[in-house]
Amino acid sequence: MNVSFTDLGLCAPILKTLSNNKYEKPTPIQAQAIPAVLAGRDVVGLAQTGTGKTAAFTLPILHRLADGKYNGKHPLRVLILTPTRELATQINDAIWTYSRGLGLKSTVVIGGVPIKRQQRQIAQGIDILVATPGRLEDLISQRSVSLDKIETVVLDEADQMLDIGFMPAIRRLLKLTPKKRQTLLFSATMPKEIASLSNDHLTDPVKVSVAQVSATADKIEQTVVHMDPGAKPTAIFKLAEKHPGKRIIVFTRTKRGADKVAKRLNTEGIGADAIHGNKSQGQRQRALDAFRKGTKLILIATDIAARGIDIPDVAVVVNYDLPNVPESYVHRIGRTARAGASGLAVTFCSPEEVKLLRAIEKVIKMPVPAMNADGSPMAAVVANTPKNVGKRRTPTRDGKPAKRRWHKPRGEGGKPAGGSRRRGGGKPKAASA
Ligand code: AMP
Repeated sequence: MNVSFTDLGLCAPILKTLSNNKYEKPTPIQAQAIPAVLAGRDVVGLAQTGTGKTAAFTLPILHRLADGKYNGKHPLRVLILTPTRELATQINDAIWTYSRGLGLKSTVVIGGVPIKRQQRQIAQGIDILVATPGRLEDLISQRSVSLDKIETVVLDEADQMLDIGFMPAIRRLLKLTPKKRQTLLFSATMPKEIASLSNDHLTDPVKVSVAQVSATADKIEQTVVHMDPGAKPTAIFKLAEKHPGKRIIVFTRTKRGADKVAKRLNTEGIGADAIHGNKSQGQRQRALDAFRKGTKLILIATDIAARGIDIPDVAVVVNYDLPNVPESYVHRIGRTARAGASGLAVTFCSPEEVKLLRAIEKVIKMPVPAMNADGSPMAAVVANTPKNVGKRRTPTRDGKPAKRRWHKPRGEGGKPAGGSRRRGGGKPKAASA
């Protein structure tokens, strides 16, 4: 679709901000969603982070708010609900950027930080509230905020809110907003609970979609390294060493696992922070800031802690553990190869996790290439750094590219190292983020 931001009908101050931020043209989700939101339609957007979806809903909302300014106190007109504190903060930051010169006010209400300041800010009058459901319900029960003037509700990362168990709270909150409102629902996947939420609370929504898993995966070099669980700590250390100066996100299934990997890397003198549900809001934010600034180049995260976080220039995503839910794999590897760049996703797969790998391959509709055929996995990591993406070949001793083998890497002694179903029987522990 070859449209410009001007074609989409956004107002002059927004166009100026976009040009200042070097946004040259709308992303596909923006080209589809912006006109629908401007026309006042409900929208269901199937899109992951990294597609430009925040601007897809934020820009037309800002345009509409700027159109009908109120004198004096700003009534709360837009509510954006997100699953995580980090995503809420990130969306609020985006609103600040995009709303320059529009005279609008927004704030974020999330748990883990004092409620008093949030109450004061709301009392002063705001146009847009970005919230996680729990803290918003607290504020409502204390009568610090009212939703009866809401014109637009955004449900961002709806599938993630479902995973965390926020669906009942979301339904309660929607009931507190006026029946006649605009509702925008964004989700990376469309499980039946989200489809039914949409049926119950949206009116004749325009459906926009850019969530083609394979399209996202195209720019990402994906590889799996089969290894015993005990080999993972050394493998991550070696991989970090092979990518000096590059941002790496490492996903673990559990909070404890995340802490252990961070500790191990720090012991080896490689700066790394872990983010997960047991860390305070301040700790998580500091870790993210350090990662963004590049003072720490490795971030270890559980799925829930990392979803929706937009961090540029992530060169490598490592699945230290395979996710229990295959779709999480897609979310995880989507942290790299953003905004047209290419990236590398390396999955450490123990024999017990092979079943999970097969489930992922079903979802992404392709096999994840095993890194090499000769049992020297780390050499393949080097061969597959982003600059080599597209070439994807592991040199053999005679200098010729190796034939690719799918899931049948050979372990020591020439035996298959985890590729066989016979060895993939055990069930990993449940995730806890
Ligand atoms: P999101 O999917 O909303 O997390 O956005 C991903 C990244 O793309 C963010 O860093 C945005 O600043 C950036 N972005 C969004 N829209 C555009 C655009 N039209 N042109 C360039 N960058 C964009």
